Amino acid sequence: MATVTALDSRKKKAPETQATPAETVERRTLRNLSPADGEPLASVPITTPDEVRAAVARARRAQSAWARMPIEERAERILRFRDAIVENADRLVDVLVRETGKPRNEALLHEVLVVADLASYFAHNAARILAPQNISLHFLVHRKSYVHYAPKGVIGVISPWNFPFAIPMGDVIPALLAGNAVIVKPSEVTPLIALEAKKVFDSTGLPEDLFQVITGDGATGQALIESGIQKLIFTGGVATGKRVAAACGAQLVPCIMELGGKAPLLALSDCDVERTARAIVYGGFCNSGQACISVERVYAHRSIHDELLRRVKELVGELKQGDASKSFVDIGSIIFPKQIETAEKLIADAVAKGAEVVAGGERVHRAGNYFQPTVLAECHHGMDVMREEIFGPIVPIQRIDSDEEAIALANDSHLGLNAYVFSKSRERALRVAEKIEAGSVVVNDVMLNYGACEAPFGGLKESGFGRVHGDDSLRDMCDKRHVNYGRVPMPARDPLWFPYSSTSYSIFSKGLEVLFHGAGVIQRIVKRMP
Ligand code: NAD
Repeated sequence: MATVTALDSRKKKAPETQATPAETVERRTLRNLSPADGEPLASVPITTPDEVRAAVARARRAQSAWARMPIEERAERILRFRDAIVENADRLVDVLVRETGKPRNEALLHEVLVVADLASYFAHNAARILAPQNISLHFLVHRKSYVHYAPKGVIGVISPWNFPFAIPMGDVIPALLAGNAVIVKPSEVTPLIALEAKKVFDSTGLPEDLFQVITGDGATGQALIESGIQKLIFTGGVATGKRVAAACGAQLVPCIMELGGKAPLLALSDCDVERTARAIVYGGFCNSGQACISVERVYAHRSIHDELLRRVKELVGELKQGDASKSFVDIGSIIFPKQIETAEKLIADAVAKGAEVVAGGERVHRAGNYFQPTVLAECHHGMDVMREEIFGPIVPIQRIDSDEEAIALANDSHLGLNAYVFSKSRERALRVAEKIEAGSVVVNDVMLNYGACEAPFGGLKESGFGRVHGDDSLRDMCDKRHVNYGRVPMPARDPLWFPYSSTSYSIFSKGLEVLFHGAGVIQRIVKRMP
């Protein structure tokens, strides 16, 4: 439904001003700039609340036919969509790089591949996961129960800018497989890749209204929540998440909240220092540190701290940074200038409180938004950089003396999305991992758990609630409906029903005693026996 005006980038400055007066009044638009060079990228419409409601009504009509289709057929069609994504991978990567400034390798692996793989897994397993489940009843033994999974209807997805393909499409595909229609409200900062995904979807012949993209800002997201959807999957910041959860509460719309992260990396005394150093650099700086599971703080044991820091510094010195649309750089640009200001503020606070800048520390003065990959040493929890979400290319490191201290510091956070533990002893690492308050803990690796689509992903504390991925997430796209029926025909006059009497009361009362204190009752009866 949304149309996009590509800007002849370097010449036209503000397309809105070129619209006819009538259009200017009726249609507000979003104008996006390239993070890599600051040039205009495109202009997209802000969808109005009326249009949002109309989109939901169309989605509902498309959904009823889709839901009646056998699940095997839905899966087969989703695999066609998966194939189209793979065939269009280069085009999708181009749009992702242009719009986010991330390196091509990351756009391909962290976005396109993750979605194609997730589509395969859920399409091949949906029939198994959503098969009706029998429930054996321990008490009502004359009855039987099962649950079956019915699609909810129209599911809304509100997504952020940092993984603007993998995050929404990772929700869209399971929602469709489960028999729902889906409406995505992409971030106002990165609407183009969602529109591109919609084009690919339409090219497969799937019903057009089944998956729709409504471009716009926070108000459009709010309108989506109020438009009669049956569920919302929200991914974004904590502050926005609280507002969105409240709006969902007001409408009684069930929601999943995927919010911020502050992933600690615990480098235990027996870690492989070289692998840990490389993991810190990759986990801290891929996507310019703009991932909810980025390494946001490191706790390094005193015995390996100095060697680890030295290697991290060397490795950071080898990183290539620049415009990812022009060459194969390791680090691209930052999404918008505000993220740079946040980085500068956090570094200034840390340095004022005793941190040492080991690498980077400054914005790069060139067109576009760039910040040097930065490593801070001698950090502690009195610094904002150790407690607030950074969402930029900064890795602060703190020296620790024991596993217990590392665990306590890792848990000293209002967020609990992801964590990493590095140790050569699997037993020790797992012992530590289980004590960390996070939705996921990864041992001796970084960033990859989002790609393990069989496993649940989501946060504790203010990182949110509910889970995406994992078999249960597909079931959660449905209403779980319980059906109960008799094993044997029952008499017309059921002894549990009316009329009540003192006789039936005393029979039930004895029954209660036998049921829950059976052994004692039997003993008393035996004692009374001659
Ligand atoms: P954001 O909260 O600013 O925006 C997220 C989305 O919410 C956008 O589409 C925005 O338009 C929409 N929105 C804003 N106000 C709204 C309102 N009142 N009602 C409905 N929708 C509204 O987040 P962002 O800056 O795009 O993304 C960065 C944040 O996302 C970080 O905090 C990051 O940790 C988090 N994130 C979390 C996960 C996860 O899986 N837990 C993944 C990626 C990003």
